[in-house]
Amino acid sequence: MKAYGYANHSPTDKLAPFTFERREPRSEDVAIDIMYCGICHSDIHSARNEWGGTHYPFVPGHEIVGRVTAVGDKVTKFKPGDLVGVGCLVDSCRHCQSCKEGLEQYCENGWTATYNSEDKIGGTPHTHTFGGYSDKIMVSERFVLCIPENLDPAATAPLLCAGITTYSPLRHWKVGPGQKVGIVGLGGLGHMGVKLAHAMGAHVVMITTSPEKGHDAKKLGADEVLISRDAEAMVVAANSFDFLLNTIPVGHDVNPYMDLLKRDGTMVIVGAVEALTKVSGVPFIFKRRTLAGSLIGGLPETQEMLDFCGEHNITCDIEMIDIKDVNIAYDRTVKGDVKYRFVIDMATLMNT
Ligand code: NAP
Ligand code: ZN
Ligand code: ZN
Repeated sequence: MKAYGYANHSPTDKLAPFTFERREPRSEDVAIDIMYCGICHSDIHSARNEWGGTHYPFVPGHEIVGRVTAVGDKVTKFKPGDLVGVGCLVDSCRHCQSCKEGLEQYCENGWTATYNSEDKIGGTPHTHTFGGYSDKIMVSERFVLCIPENLDPAATAPLLCAGITTYSPLRHWKVGPGQKVGIVGLGGLGHMGVKLAHAMGAHVVMITTSPEKGHDAKKLGADEVLISRDAEAMVVAANSFDFLLNTIPVGHDVNPYMDLLKRDGTMVIVGAVEALTKVSGVPFIFKRRTLAGSLIGGLPETQEMLDFCGEHNITCDIEMIDIKDVNIAYDRTVKGDVKYRFVIDMATLMNT
């Protein structure tokens, strides 16, 4: 099946129009016309091969919202016209312990990412999956999500990655009333972390390098703002946090953040995959603190997050763009110049 989107062909190449093949529909497939796709910082890391392993041509995009156009004969949950979402996962082995528990993101046999992943079931004219910066996508029913109809579909798209990546650790570590929770980095993930932790009843502190973002953080639901470059303020805040969600997108010195945790506090890393420099045993041993990580979320939890957002009327703060401006949006995201997620209006593909 012919599809049209944007791809780049090398780490230094700009994204540009690209025609490619999607697989023919299978009996369990849902065919989706893509309406909106968010720009996650992971799209940029991958397009620029900053994590290694990017296959070109590369079509990014894993924050997808669209309408169902057709379903295979074994599909029971969806029908044409339904508003649906697709996040970072489009398949997994479906039989390992993690898959059985609905934690497909930890599939012990390797999950299939929405882009740049081998499509293991095969039968495709290409060897790697292509993401959501395109007009249509074909996804197995198990990996398709229902989007609450009361939410703005464009502002809902980033929930499919930024939303679940922050919701999952907040739920796993049981964040709630009576806890002081810090969200580190006010970008796409961080702004969702603030909204979700606030809705879960925690006392939320936005920890940012940018004093000018402080006012926004309060509007998003933060009770306090802590400027991480203010060494004095960081010392005053030491030993006071129950939980920290760290979205910094690059390797960094975690010690100043670890020092913010109370005894038995936990910091979860979701952004940096590079080495975390200078981690000594001291902050762990002397305060029994934990440093942990978390990867997106499984399908059941992603649906739970979407339903939670539907009930609490939570969406992302977005800047909608025309797809021809996608390369500018990449540069602005890297500079931290976005409030707080770019979303591509896929209807603008028609003009390119
Ligand atoms: P983003 O929109 O670029 O936001 C990152 C924020 O981190 C920036 O706005 C900035 O906030 C802060 N920051 C940037 N560089 C920094 C530095 N050197 N030191 C301290 N703070 C810094 O990125 P995003 O889309 O939210 O993604 C965040 C990271 O999570 C990316 O690396 C992405 O690949 C990763 N990710 C992981 C998962 C997962 O499953 N674990 C899922 C999705 C994305 P301030 O201006 O407020 O300081
Ligand atoms: Zn993402
Ligand atoms: Zn599995």
